[in-house]
Amino acid sequence: MQGFGTTIFAEMSALATRTGAINLGQGFPDTDGPPEVLAAAQAAIAEGHNQYPPGRGIAELRTAIAEHQRQWYGIELDPDTEVLVTAGATEAIAASLLALCEPGDEVIALEPTYDSYAASIALAGARLVPVRLHFPEHRVDLDAVRAAVTDRTRLLLLNSPHNPTGHVLGEDELRGLAAIAVEHDLLVVSDEVYEHLVFDEHRHIPIATLPGMAERTLTISSGGKTFSTTGWKIGWLSGPAELVTAATTTKQFLTFVNGGPFQYGIAAGLALPPERIHALTVQLQAQRDLLVDGLSRLGLTLAPSEGTYFVTADVAALGATDSYEFCRTLPERCGVVAIPSRVFHVDPTGVETLVRFAFCKRPEVVAEAVSRLQRW
Ligand code: PMP
Ligand code: GLN
Repeated sequence: MQGFGTTIFAEMSALATRTGAINLGQGFPDTDGPPEVLAAAQAAIAEGHNQYPPGRGIAELRTAIAEHQRQWYGIELDPDTEVLVTAGATEAIAASLLALCEPGDEVIALEPTYDSYAASIALAGARLVPVRLHFPEHRVDLDAVRAAVTDRTRLLLLNSPHNPTGHVLGEDELRGLAAIAVEHDLLVVSDEVYEHLVFDEHRHIPIATLPGMAERTLTISSGGKTFSTTGWKIGWLSGPAELVTAATTTKQFLTFVNGGPFQYGIAAGLALPPERIHALTVQLQAQRDLLVDGLSRLGLTLAPSEGTYFVTADVAALGATDSYEFCRTLPERCGVVAIPSRVFHVDPTGVETLVRFAFCKRPEVVAEAVSRLQRW
């Protein structure tokens, strides 16, 4: 793990704590999610669900995950063999890559890549092959993906809605990626943790729903994002039984099992009516609008934020030449923390001045951050 050091999220959150700055860096909400979700976990503790849960996760949660995939996307899953509960999406990603990659295999991922991808690929002894999404539209360049495929390519590691860009992959991009996966017989690991945090006319499409994909795709999600419980670390993956079994075998020796009582909470969340989940997104979209409007008024060029907690801005207009330096000094200069997007790249040439801001904070907090930036 030489070269990985401290994650950018830990570094920037520590900076926020040290300086008392508003943390628009690490993506976590500052309000609680649905009370039913919290109450179900509290009840589970009170009722004595405090020992190791079953290896694949409690039946109530696996059934709720299968039902969620059926109800939202028409995906049919056997909760006993095609679903695995994990310690957040982070463990689902690590377990999938460790299970499916052999040393020397190549993994194609959309760059900027969420930070744990490079680390998990390294743990598996595989090689990250990044394909750049270009600011500001961040659409997938299918020719570039095709050109990146070699006879060592094992899988496509996808992420939509995409962190850090906020891009939601459209049907045309997903169909193109699916065609490449089928043509080259690649596996797909699809990180869909922001599946419900999608704005305006955009729509989340799981790539597993496209022809030829269900049998080669592991789909990953996380209760942390949908229910504002990032500290609970309840994630999951689903897909064909043999791929899920491979990931389960690996998970046994990463954490064995995790988060017993919290699993009951997330099961209760997944059983909420769709309009309750939608209401959280409507609220988040209003926070996005506040931040996007404020950053635009500063004269910054922004990437369209179509989903997730994030918007990407080019801070060159503020005189910055290096986003890392910019983010390291921003708290002292104006009391705001953000994330330099360059850390999500193998080679940051061309993205040196891009910065990711999170808007998953109460409207008054977002407004205060905007006014601090404006005053500065
Ligand atoms: N994938 C992406 C794209 C994320 O943004 C995050 C987290 N914030 C994760 C995975 C990890 O999710 P979890 O906290 O459930 O481990
Ligand atoms: N996924 C969150 C983000 O992108 C952070 C999670 C973490 O700190 N590992 O901000």
